[in-house]
Amino acid sequence: MPQIFNYTFNTSVYKGTSNFSTGLYINGKFVDGSEGGSIDVINPTNGKVITSVSEGTPKDVDLAVQAAQKAFDTVWGLNTPGFERGRLLYKLADLMEQHADEYAALEALDNGKTFNWARKADVEVAIGTIRYYAGWADKIHGNTIETTKDKISYTVHEPLGVVGQIIPWNFPLMMLAWKFGPALACGNTIVLKPSEFTPLTALLTAKLCHEVGFPPGVINIVNGYGPTVGDAISHHMHIEKVAFTGSTLVGRKVMQAAADTNLKDISLELGGKSPNIIFDDCDIDQAVSWTVHGIFWNHGQACCAGSRIFVHAKIYDEFLAKFTEKTKSLKVGDPFSPDSYQGPQVSQQQYDRVMGYIESGREAGATVHLGGERWGNEGYFIKPTIFTETKPDMRIVQEEIFGPVGVVIKFENDDDVIRQANDTVYGLAAAMFTKNIDRALKTSQKLRAGTTWINCANQLHPQVPFGGLQAVGVKYQSEQAQISLSRTVNSLDHDTMKTSAPYMRVIIAA
Ligand code: NAD
Repeated sequence: MPQIFNYTFNTSVYKGTSNFSTGLYINGKFVDGSEGGSIDVINPTNGKVITSVSEGTPKDVDLAVQAAQKAFDTVWGLNTPGFERGRLLYKLADLMEQHADEYAALEALDNGKTFNWARKADVEVAIGTIRYYAGWADKIHGNTIETTKDKISYTVHEPLGVVGQIIPWNFPLMMLAWKFGPALACGNTIVLKPSEFTPLTALLTAKLCHEVGFPPGVINIVNGYGPTVGDAISHHMHIEKVAFTGSTLVGRKVMQAAADTNLKDISLELGGKSPNIIFDDCDIDQAVSWTVHGIFWNHGQACCAGSRIFVHAKIYDEFLAKFTEKTKSLKVGDPFSPDSYQGPQVSQQQYDRVMGYIESGREAGATVHLGGERWGNEGYFIKPTIFTETKPDMRIVQEEIFGPVGVVIKFENDDDVIRQANDTVYGLAAAMFTKNIDRALKTSQKLRAGTTWINCANQLHPQVPFGGLQAVGVKYQSEQAQISLSRTVNSLDHDTMKTSAPYMRVIIAA
């Protein structure tokens, strides 16, 4: 029998108890892994073990796929109308809302993000996403298509079947919601693997899905490591699609696995090295605030983090002084402290990785303008770090660090900054600060980025697609994902409703 996680939070921001099974959730039951293994879950604030969860194996993935297939064939998919799927999703969102503080506390404990930010960002977006897709469930329509006078053609959207979902540790609940929402709204059944570093909120969600009454097998959660459980999902012959969020390196493996097996559909949400552009006509204080949020929110562990900060030469000194002052004021510390902005990095591995990048920047001759060292004596805390005097080919300028490390780079004019901003293999997001809307819109068209934020940064809304270009994958969340998770049958053109061209989203703040 799997263990029960029974934990009492007694903090100044949240008091309450968490209680759920740490098993694998397969076919409506919490079970042990087939080989009886377990994975320790570490508290990044102090490096101590919080609990352990059952470790899944490829055999467990197979059991989960069988359960999901059976549920798809008998009680879900075309057997449950969209209205009913939407009703269950709304119920799940309501139940998640009742557990919102508990969710935020679990994310703070397990991931190290601050309770306050988890509550107002991760949890709110996750609930909003489930609600948004609940609304879609009964509005997935086909078309009638005129052909010749004695024929009628029509298209209907059908779910794909069993879909695999592999998610990272940086937004454990939000990523789960981004995957669950569209897949369930369309009528697919799910085998999801949470990150081995942050499985707790997925397991609470399994418990809530059970309470909501999703039929057994519709939702399956298999904890485990990437090279075993993740790999088994990517290679499974009866999984019709894998939605993956994580590193570019592993994204390639998922794509390769699809090519080597049943040519399953895949969507890849990968890394980023997003430009954050400060034009000389911006409101500097506004730009400073958002730039700080752009790079340091979630401890820099955001795929869309504005990690390359380009500043017009005319205002470089003033901006850098204000940006430095604001960054110094960020409070690093206990994720449960009400005034902490930044907690620890998620794991020892990530701590080492980020510190390795900081070292590489130093060795390459960049200037550590601020931070660049550990904070405190235990846990995986790193001080917010700013580099200046960089060169374009340095690793800290080219590679995704995924930590609280920004590089500040001077530019001379619009063409210069567009060239520098696009000098990357990534293309997920961009932010810019200017009072000139004409300049903003023209620049956003020239940037290779899936989303461009104008006078704001890191704004995520369930209604707005999220995805990128180049080496970050070209499939999307939001309504595009909803469409790409269903497919068209009985149609002359099976590809009619498939997600097609790259797009650009622009979000403008006043
Ligand atoms: P990761 O690629 O190491 O792991 C992601 C998931 O893949 C985990 O669940 C992991 O266990 C699994 N995995 C590892 N090896 C695997 C394999 N061989 N086969 C199948 N699955 C495997 O990434 P991470 O370190 O957990 O997350 C950080 C990365 O995620 C960053 O690069 C970040 O930019 C990216 N990210 C992207 C988005 C987006 O929307 N574009 C959102 C969040 C995070």
